[in-house]
Amino acid sequence: MARAHLYGTPVSPGIALGTVHFLHTDPVPEKRRILAAEVEQEQEKLQAALQAVSEDLDKACKKVPEDMQEYREIIAVQKDMTRDPRLVESTGKLIAEDLVNASWALSQVVQQLCNIFREMQDPYLQDRAQDIRAVGLRILEKLSGSEHGAELPSSLILAAEDISPADIMDLDADRIVGIMTHEGGITSHTAIMARGMHIPALVCVTNLMVAAKEGDSVILDGITGNILIDPDDNDSKRLSERAENYRSWRKATSNMAHWPADTVDAVRVSVLANIESPEETSSLAATGADGIGLYRTEFAFMGDNIPNEEELATEYTKVVQGSPGTAVIRTLDCGADKLMKAQAQLKEPNPALGLRGVRYTLRNQDLFRVQLRALLRAGVSGRLAVMVPMISNVEEVRAVKRLMQEVDQELCMRHIPHARTLPLGIMVETPAAMMITDALARECDFFSIGTNDLIHYMLAIDRNNRHVAYLSDCMHPAVVRALKRIIDSGHRAGLSVSACGELSADPFGVVLMLGMGIDAFSVSPAFLPGIKHLIRKLEARACTELASQVLMSSDIPACKHMVREMLQKTMGHELGFMTSSSMVERGQTV
Ligand code: PEP
Ligand code: MG
Repeated sequence: MARAHLYGTPVSPGIALGTVHFLHTDPVPEKRRILAAEVEQEQEKLQAALQAVSEDLDKACKKVPEDMQEYREIIAVQKDMTRDPRLVESTGKLIAEDLVNASWALSQVVQQLCNIFREMQDPYLQDRAQDIRAVGLRILEKLSGSEHGAELPSSLILAAEDISPADIMDLDADRIVGIMTHEGGITSHTAIMARGMHIPALVCVTNLMVAAKEGDSVILDGITGNILIDPDDNDSKRLSERAENYRSWRKATSNMAHWPADTVDAVRVSVLANIESPEETSSLAATGADGIGLYRTEFAFMGDNIPNEEELATEYTKVVQGSPGTAVIRTLDCGADKLMKAQAQLKEPNPALGLRGVRYTLRNQDLFRVQLRALLRAGVSGRLAVMVPMISNVEEVRAVKRLMQEVDQELCMRHIPHARTLPLGIMVETPAAMMITDALARECDFFSIGTNDLIHYMLAIDRNNRHVAYLSDCMHPAVVRALKRIIDSGHRAGLSVSACGELSADPFGVVLMLGMGIDAFSVSPAFLPGIKHLIRKLEARACTELASQVLMSSDIPACKHMVREMLQKTMGHELGFMTSSSMVERGQTV
């Protein structure tokens, strides 16, 4: 155990003190020659291990909390792999033909399958390799008897290359106080799940696999991104106090969550929720959400089966009925890092610049019509607006509107109750859309700024590439000017403008965009009470002055300094409880 400082990207807020527990550290199986007479025995061992893993995954499925049912499907996919002939039959064959023990045979087959998938160089199939590896490791753990047992300590900080939702459910969730991974991103499922379960988490932790060891004591700060391995007594005391203060702050902001987000000079801003499953609506009231600003519809399309109109209509109706205000449902935004199975076959050289979002849905209109019909049907059950992602020209918006009219006619002919029309908005997230907002505004009812992709495309920084993450900066003058341009042209055309990327949950982004007159922020529910609290403390007029100064400057450090000063003056020590990529000063905070 050696004292070390590590840094990662905060994806779920909170501070955790606990003991490192590594998941899936490759057990290296020994190769053992067996006698022909032992083949049956080894094959029985394999079957028993497969059965045990399948039962474990079943149990993990059952532990998935009510409001996170979508994770059951991910776990079910892994369970299906325990019956996959490519894995099971090939291993059995290898045992019998090469006369080797089950663990060795399994490790060889898993390795071969992983290599085949990895070599395909396709993000979707590469993900499959990760699933196979994860299941393979579980089976190996069973075969070697080395699986994590009941004698684990109570405050676990899980560490791994990557963690799947099943891993979290597999352990007693109450024992997990923190998560840190070498891979992953802010929008990965583990990140979303960690936020939903209020488990502090960091991803992209550099050096994690070499610097941390099983059983190390560790402090993880899911707000600043710092990790301290082997803290001394002073560190532990200081960070325990910080953790306690953070808990009190969270409780206090949650208690005030239902108050409106009015600035001190009485400017009202809506604060909405970004969610991904209908089950999440059940906890929205407690967060004080004024509505749903972004419902991501991709999840239902990621499995083996494409959902039908009935299933989608049921899903969207639940979202509309469960929303505290208007629910903005985004049409399918598959592509880039959210590839559907069908897209994997396209073998696009650069999927982030390929058939993504509306480009894909307009090219696959049968599928798009099903989704649009489901949306119109859900429109009868409450306030619903439709939002289209990845728009880069006016024709795309017109094409979507034409399709909506056509599906309305289809539903009329089938005598199915539905909303004849719905408000239609667009995500402004490509530089092209940002430059033609005046023309786009004439075609739609509202704008929502997708800051994640806007920054990614404007600054030419792959949002999932940790090597260039250091270049991502919301205070880059190009980003600041783009935000202003979108908000102004939306308003000039009488449209409401919201922002729904991660920047909406960042105090720097809130000050800037509030100062530019944004109407609403849409954030992950974990950040909602804190963002409302911040807005209630800000003065809109002062934010406007500050935003003007920032707009006139191209000196990023000076601009950050100005915004930080205002935030510190407004929030005092509370600022330390809010996550901001602009405030993380690596190496200084723990
Ligand atoms: C965005 O791009 O900012 C956004 C909210 O959408 P997503 O993260 O789903 O691409
Ligand atoms: Mg986007």
